Amino acid sequence: MVLKYDEMLDRAYLSIPKKALDHERFEIPRVESNIQGKKTFVKNVTSLLKEMRRDKKHFLKFLTKETGTSVTESGANLLVNGKIGAIQLNKLIESYFKQFVLCSECKKPDTKILVQQGTKMMKCEACGAITPVKGI
Ligand SMILES: [Zn+2]
Repeated sequence: MVLKYDEMLDRAYLSIPKKALDHERFEIPRVESNIQGKKTFVKNVTSLLKEMRRDKKHFLKFLTKETGTSVTESGANLLVNGKIGAIQLNKLIESYFKQFVLCSECKKPDTKILVQQGTKMMKCEACGAITPVKGI
């Protein structure tokens, strides 16, 4: 009896359209990094930038300021001149997304930066909200 009931549940679960199970909320990507000696390499910078749709220079400037050390390109990686743990790096990415990528109204990442009367603004392509962007 119990087994039959479980089977029914399985079937019910499988028949839910896949889309209904997808997360509505955008997931901030995680950093893939490793520390070598006194340096930290960020390995998935290309895919991070693709998710952000932001200028690499802007992102480097942000990281440089937040880590207080030099951040440079090293082939396909980013090289941070210091030991930065994965937890701290992920917090920085989260903060970058919150400040410069996610719409403050609808929290979607479909935004772009534009300049209006000399001020940088973030325009959301999902809901149309235009909000000022903090300078770095
Ligand atoms: Zn929006």
